[in-house]
Amino acid sequence: MRVFFVRAKTLVALVLVAVITALACVGIVRYKQAVQASKNGYVIVIDPGHGGADGGVVSSQKKVKESEINLYVSKILANTLSRKGYTVKLTRSADIGLYEVGATNKKLSDMQKRKEIINASKPDLVISIHQNHFPSSSVHGAHVFYSDKQERSEQYAKIFQQDLNAELEQSKQYKKADYYVLQCSPYPSLLIECGFLSNPTDESNLLTASYREKLAKIIAKSVDKVFFGEA
Ligand SMILES: [Zn+2]
Repeated sequence: MRVFFVRAKTLVALVLVAVITALACVGIVRYKQAVQASKNGYVIVIDPGHGGADGGVVSSQKKVKESEINLYVSKILANTLSRKGYTVKLTRSADIGLYEVGATNKKLSDMQKRKEIINASKPDLVISIHQNHFPSSSVHGAHVFYSDKQERSEQYAKIFQQDLNAELEQSKQYKKADYYVLQCSPYPSLLIECGFLSNPTDESNLLTASYREKLAKIIAKSVDKVFFGEA
């Protein structure tokens, strides 16, 4: 009889553990679904800089165009954020310029189209992806730029720069800038120069898929951080 009671107690304990575990799992799933659903309410515009005839800066060794790297990083970032539940809009998803056919000032026409897309999307955040170039090849690293035209841009720039500094083991300072894409809308906007194509180490990194994926992952985590405080 005693053995029976011991077994019965063990059985009850096991059932309790199973029920608690199941309830915890349901809780975690519901929490994740709730976070996912709330992210659907956030709209992020990702703007791969340049494109088409405008290749941007060119890498020193391999002559790869900035526009190509921008598009690659932007697409991974878009996929990552979509999977997390954000609504994502890309200003371009192919190697094309956004200027009107026959436009006399192609650069202006291209930028006006980007402005149109940004304003029509009413985004919570605009992230423009670029690569840098400098006469001195020793300058390297990822830089975040913002405009003081929108209230939260500086606060967001600080977070993005801190995350890039920590993950890439660098110490860059985010900066105010007057780039058209940062000033063309009332929505928080950042321009990220992922690295210097004039620096041999940055260049060789930026030419690899793994480094581009790493950058997209860091930026996506910063997006979560600014909206949800998630690390
Ligand atoms: Zn650029």
